[in-house]
Amino acid sequence: VKRYDLIVLGGGAGGLTVAAGAASMGAKVALIEKQEQPGGDCLHYGCVPSKALITAAKNVHHARLAAREFGFTLDGEPDFLQAMKRVKAAVSDIQKHDDADRFRDMGVDVFHGFGSFKDDHHVEISGGEMLFGKRIVISTGSSPVIPPIEGLREAGFLTNETVFDLQDKPDRLLVIGAGPIGLELAQSFARFGTQVTVADFAPGLFGREDEEIVSSIQSVLEKELTLLLKTKVQKVERLESGEKLVTVIQGSEEQKIIADYILVATGRRPNTDRIGLEHTGVHTDNGYILVKETLQTTVPHIFAVGDVLRDFPFTHAAGMEGKVVVANAVFGLRKKINYDHVPWVTYTDPEVFHLGLTEKEARGKYGEDIQVYKVTLDDVDRFVTDRETNGMVKVITDKKGVILGAHAVGKDAGDWMQEIVFAKQHAHKIGDISHVIHPYPTHGAAVQRAADQFWRHKLFAGVLPKLLKRYIQWFR
Ligand SMILES: Cc1cc2nc3c(=O)[nH]c(=O)nc-3n(C[C@H](O)[C@H](O)[C@H](O)COP(=O)(O)OP(=O)(O)OC[C@H]3O[C@@H](n4cnc5c(N)ncnc54)[C@H](O)[C@@H]3O)c2cc1C
Repeated sequence: VKRYDLIVLGGGAGGLTVAAGAASMGAKVALIEKQEQPGGDCLHYGCVPSKALITAAKNVHHARLAAREFGFTLDGEPDFLQAMKRVKAAVSDIQKHDDADRFRDMGVDVFHGFGSFKDDHHVEISGGEMLFGKRIVISTGSSPVIPPIEGLREAGFLTNETVFDLQDKPDRLLVIGAGPIGLELAQSFARFGTQVTVADFAPGLFGREDEEIVSSIQSVLEKELTLLLKTKVQKVERLESGEKLVTVIQGSEEQKIIADYILVATGRRPNTDRIGLEHTGVHTDNGYILVKETLQTTVPHIFAVGDVLRDFPFTHAAGMEGKVVVANAVFGLRKKINYDHVPWVTYTDPEVFHLGLTEKEARGKYGEDIQVYKVTLDDVDRFVTDRETNGMVKVITDKKGVILGAHAVGKDAGDWMQEIVFAKQHAHKIGDISHVIHPYPTHGAAVQRAADQFWRHKLFAGVLPKLLKRYIQWFR
């Protein structure tokens, strides 16, 4: 039995952060990864391939728009296979950062195999090798949920794990699930010329976004996709031609849809069912691992990071959690995780940015003691010059201007909204952003315009304007 200071079970976004951090501090670290190469979902089936496909699709879309507007013609169809090659190239370029040998060079013992607990300190790797860990980190990630729809398994379907292997562009694609993963991919395929229908039984897109933000992006997506909301996918039949005949029910109305492929994007489930947690004292809820703020599980020397935790299934959250675990598992500190300032972005075009509370959540928590500042992008010069005015910024603060939430729909919103994450995290009030000089004309001016409203509101509401008027009269 090989003995380690730290065993990391799963070499994705969370596990790699822990392994690299712990090894650089001098800990003896074992990393167990079941795939040929570390990198996890984000690199192989998630963030990286999806963003590569999104950019390829965006280029195609904007070439078409330019042709229409500037009176030139485009010949032929975009080469879908070329786009998929580009996706693979992006994955392979970034794989270099996550390569097993690179981690070996850092001093990490990398094991290839499926790891599972034998008890609170022992992990067995498929093939029989047994490791002892003084401390252990669970970072096994998540998998797509496959809904129990009649005939779906028999008919066949794609998930994020198989969709990037397509060689031919589907003519008709049904996406089940109108969350971030489903919509990012749906829009990309539509831009390559696939006829895309998205079905979801929820009444709105995205689940966790602010209602106004949802209607803003929905009006854009509806121009490119067929969105069937409040719709249940009832049954799938595979026709002799290989096509799928799908029965959906919207309200009391039944509809038949023919699709070449079905992409299932109905949520994620944590990969915790087959890792031998029953041999440990680690508790779960619905499969998600329960942790304290120190990211310790119910067994203090076992930690968990990433998608095995319920609330923030993002690469940057897994990275942030990984750093907390390095501090606690390697140095024995009691550092606590804080999710108050974790943003996320959905990379549709335009992008959707999210930070903190939505207006509804803020009203639920603080009642009427909040302020909401909104700017539509047709009021921001740079978006007007770009002819990209779809979208808005919405900032929610308390009465004193403390930022509670910030949301946006807009071209590249994930980049220019970052300013507000910095402000929130460092306890700056919204009014402070107003004093920061923004070069004219940048997209970030949208944030400044929202911040300006704070001062306008202060100057023109309440007792201040009356006092000001009196002072000016006296001064004259
Ligand atoms: C299509 C899609 C797009 C996404 N886009 C974004 C995005 O743009 N931005 C963003 O922040 N997030 C995005 N995400 C989410 C992001 O991919 C995850 O939040 C992130 O990968 C979670 O990291 P993790 O370390 O928990 O899991 P992973 O990165 O998946 O790593 C888990 C690793 O554990 C291994 N493993 C599992 N079980 C075992 C075992 N028993 N033994 C050994 N190894 C095991 C797996 O093979 C895997 O390598 C996206 C996800 C998807 C599906």
